[in-house]
Amino acid sequence: MPLEVYNTYSRRLEVFTPITEGMVKMFVCGPTVYDYLHLGHARTYIFYDVVARYLKQLGYKVLFIINITDIDDKIFEKSKKEGKSWKEVAAKYTEACIEDLKRLGVDTVTLFAKASAYLPQMIQQIQALLEKDYAYKTSKGIFFDTSKFSAFGALSHQSRAELALRKIDLDPEKKNPADFLLWRNVAESEEGYDSPFGRGRPGWHIEDTAISITHFGYSYDVHGGAVELIYPHHEAEIAQAEAYTGHTPFVKYWIHTGLLKVGGEKMAKSTGNYITIRDALEKYSSNLLRIYFLSTKYRRSMVFNQDELLKLRSRVKSIEKFWGRCCKFASKYEDGEVNSKIKILARRFASHMNQDFNTPAAIKAILDTADYINTATVAEVENLLKNSYKTVASILSTIGLVVDNSWRL
Ligand SMILES: [Zn+2]
Repeated sequence: MPLEVYNTYSRRLEVFTPITEGMVKMFVCGPTVYDYLHLGHARTYIFYDVVARYLKQLGYKVLFIINITDIDDKIFEKSKKEGKSWKEVAAKYTEACIEDLKRLGVDTVTLFAKASAYLPQMIQQIQALLEKDYAYKTSKGIFFDTSKFSAFGALSHQSRAELALRKIDLDPEKKNPADFLLWRNVAESEEGYDSPFGRGRPGWHIEDTAISITHFGYSYDVHGGAVELIYPHHEAEIAQAEAYTGHTPFVKYWIHTGLLKVGGEKMAKSTGNYITIRDALEKYSSNLLRIYFLSTKYRRSMVFNQDELLKLRSRVKSIEKFWGRCCKFASKYEDGEVNSKIKILARRFASHMNQDFNTPAAIKAILDTADYINTATVAEVENLLKNSYKTVASILSTIGLVVDNSWRL
């Protein structure tokens, strides 16, 4: 059975066929860099890291971009609080973000693209949208006219009437309630950029289309991010991009991760309800965090629970021991017949991953084999693992556990 993914746009499972044979272009919404990343980010980025790893295992070349929102009001506010320039604040947290993801074993990202490096492209896109009459000016800035884009609401499955009921800022100058900002005018004294339409700052949504169109062209394969970004952020991205390029679809597969909650509420910086990745890594290993998040299907929302997390420690140890035993026989045997038990594991693993990245079931398959290997005698293990190192390694590296030499028994 081929890989099938759930597409938010069609609300169906679809067979995964990239636009260009052998290559997958994937863009995942990155953080706004005004603070350290929290475990909600960890859950999201660990999942897309596993997606990238699995696609590579299937033989695809994967171009994986995460954008860094380094132009945002929250950064300007933080810079005032910390008494630093906004560029210093953004640089500090960008570096911290990349470092934290690395510590979690998220190392498949081809490019972390900083929004501030794409100002000319954003300005060009906004200008084109004005010329094509998809955008209009008000005293506040430039807005996208959602009534001109007939497919607006298609990703979030909302009708025009439903969109009109959305509680958003009531601005009498806006033509439609759902119209969103492309460019905000700012005073000379405020932080901003000069543009043909005056001094200002880009809207959040246009940052992503500027980056993705620059690197991926008019159309690409996968756009990811947490489910809360579907509306208005991703809806706005489709409208901007397709209106700008005249090409549809902008993105072939929309894949969204469920929320991580703490005590019944969403984990978010804005509410102060969060645990940073840094603090979590003081207490838990990155392998434990990876297995914990991957033990729930990615689309489900999850409530962070330390007791449940700690219960998984023995499972992580079991997988680490399995890997250690496999490494022991790595160089001894090379290209003989792979053991039938390992072949079965490889088949089970692939069939679960092909069902919309069913990581909980894929991990269960690894654990079943690990339990067997870890309790077998050395002679049995040698017989089982000889010639199977590459197969086991490719399965375990898809889950992306951080390899530690101490596992080598
Ligand atoms: Zn985004």
